[in-house]
Amino acid sequence: MTHHKVCFIGAGNMPRSIISGLVKSGYPATLIQASNPSTPKLEALAADFGIRVTQDNRAAAQEADVVVLSVKPQLMQAVCEELSDIDFSNKLVVTIAAGVTAARYGDYFKQPIKLIRTMPNTPTQIGVGMTGLYAADDVAAADRSLCERLMASGGEVVWVDKEADLNQVIALAGSSPAYFFLFMEAMMDAGMEMGMDEAKARQLVQQAALGAAQMLKQNPQLSPAELRHNVTSKGGTTAEAIATFERGDLRGLVKQAMSNCIKRAEDMA
Ligand code: NAP
Repeated sequence: MTHHKVCFIGAGNMPRSIISGLVKSGYPATLIQASNPSTPKLEALAADFGIRVTQDNRAAAQEADVVVLSVKPQLMQAVCEELSDIDFSNKLVVTIAAGVTAARYGDYFKQPIKLIRTMPNTPTQIGVGMTGLYAADDVAAADRSLCERLMASGGEVVWVDKEADLNQVIALAGSSPAYFFLFMEAMMDAGMEMGMDEAKARQLVQQAALGAAQMLKQNPQLSPAELRHNVTSKGGTTAEAIATFERGDLRGLVKQAMSNCIKRAEDMA
């Protein structure tokens, strides 16, 4: 496999997760560089993964084949403009920032760039992430597969056909680990109110959630509804709990939450 020089502009939590996945999957650490204004995160990355680090964004981008933009969205314009007089004709630009549209990168760089927008989520840090990818039609297959290889080191990837669909990726996978945390938190709280101690409530809830996710993943021929029916006996305990959720319109609430999430992403763009 050909390995390219990859640099991360911004060395916060998400690039750290991606770098960790890359190095663990065997990507040569010497081909990875991270650039960041302050040094503690750089020192930690160098010590933990053996990658190269710098405080000079331009130097890092200049020598890289793939430039991964990983600063907060509000800093993106300044960072891209700082790099804009570098020749990007032979470089692939990958961004992990939410909200900044492909057209805006074109304006910031003031030159044609090969850009792939990606939307990873936090479980990337433990190798079970989910990343949505979008590239315009003119981005070559080789560049797509290179980006896919980089992001797949942190979990699974899925391509979307339209840039706007990245907002659905945010609602379905980017923000959704927090929905599941909320549900688990509510279940633990209820269990503890009923007298279960916290450690046992946590163990019971986290293992049930993991088991449910694994059952869905390992039975692609079954829908979540079928799996649910299979464990719901008529007139039984599970049926009683499910009926309570349905009476409270859990589905309507989920739909509303996801549509508000998408609207927020659109407002940020
Ligand atoms: P973060 O932990 O806050 O890190 C941002 C980093 O950018 C900091 O290390 C900061 O350095 C650095 N930085 C600031 N100004 C810079 C500059 N001019 N040049 C280079 N680096 C600069 O943020 P994060 O969670 O990694 O998020 C990074 C990007 O990933 C964001 O665009 C976010 O939308 C996207 N993202 C994050 C997640 C997530 O779950 N975390 C999920 C999907 C997408 P200092 O500390 O020295 O200021």
